Amino acid sequence: MSTPRGRQSRLTTSRAHSARVYDYILGGKDHYPADAEAGDAMCRHWPALPVHMTENRRFMHRAGRFLAEECGIRQFLDIGTGLPTSPNLHEVVQAAAPESHVVYVDNDPIVLAHARALLQSSPEGATAYVDADMHNPDAILGSQEFQDLIDLEQPVGLMVIGIMHFILPPDDHRLVGQLLDPLPPGSCLAMTIGTADFAPEEVNRVAQEYRRQGMPFVLRDLASATSFFDGLELQEPGVTQAHAWRPGPEQDGVDGRDVAMYGAVARKP
Ligand code: SAH
Repeated sequence: MSTPRGRQSRLTTSRAHSARVYDYILGGKDHYPADAEAGDAMCRHWPALPVHMTENRRFMHRAGRFLAEECGIRQFLDIGTGLPTSPNLHEVVQAAAPESHVVYVDNDPIVLAHARALLQSSPEGATAYVDADMHNPDAILGSQEFQDLIDLEQPVGLMVIGIMHFILPPDDHRLVGQLLDPLPPGSCLAMTIGTADFAPEEVNRVAQEYRRQGMPFVLRDLASATSFFDGLELQEPGVTQAHAWRPGPEQDGVDGRDVAMYGAVARKP
């Protein structure tokens, strides 16, 4: 843990931060005026943003359930967790298998402040929180929490949801690869990847707004999104827009122009 002073300097509330903008747009309560202003500006650029974010979150729910129920995965590493919004990943996977372990990772001090809410595991399972940056996979994989909760003899579900648009090339592929590397065969990568393919003007304006607010932002086309799964076995139906991946009744009537995310789950051979 860094010193309180170091922590203080990281906890900037006068500027928008991605986790809190997401919380604001999803109707949460853990944000500051700067985040609300940034969120409002982004929604002016693209009124469908709340639909898009909701469908990203729902992809996480369906992918988590798929990994727990259909792939038998019992341990999860969740990169870029976000502020607690029920159901969180552990609630989804522990509903299927209460003994599941979940290690959460985020680099936002506000998420850290709420980590206790993420640590309400079922008595049979376990959850832990790691305050780390995706740009430093060694800090994640070397953390006590990861070592205590994740058995590298058993498959792991690596969740990289709603974060890749903040992870710029050329490091993006290497970082995902480094996180996958130590995971045994049968492990799975679940990922969503931001794209401007379906509403180019609006989504590019949102991207510009994030950059203007000091947050790096990258959008990817289908080929670029798909390349993250090279060497892995894509599970049906492959790479689709997030709402079109194994949709449920909630996805009825969702307009594809409102969802600027590709999503997929792939298995490590
Ligand atoms: N995975 C959640 C939250 C997505 S919001 C979901 O899909 O619902 C994106 C999250 O990624 C935010 O909480 C933000 O703080 C975090 N994040 C952004 N860049 C990061 C980085 N470099 N390392 C770790 N977390 C990061």
